[in-house]
Amino acid sequence: MIAVRLDVFFMLVVSVPLFVLTALVIYYSILSRHRSTHSHEAIYSCAHCGHVYAIARHRPMDHCPRCGTLNEAVRTS
Ligand SMILES: [Zn+2]
Repeated sequence: MIAVRLDVFFMLVVSVPLFVLTALVIYYSILSRHRSTHSHEAIYSCAHCGHVYAIARHRPMDHCPRCGTLNEAVRTS
């Protein structure tokens, strides 16, 4: 059996999970930089007042927040 001192054992118990968590945080922060925050928004252009707006729901049509006219999505992603 391998003899490990108690202080070394506790240092490993604390430092190894901390190192793994740090590596995961760095990995996911790098991944999140490449994702667009607006990837779930649909863009609408109002046919009545010309207001351009984005709503984070996937609906083929939605009401304009200014005048209430029902508009078709210009772009969905
Ligand atoms: Zn409008």
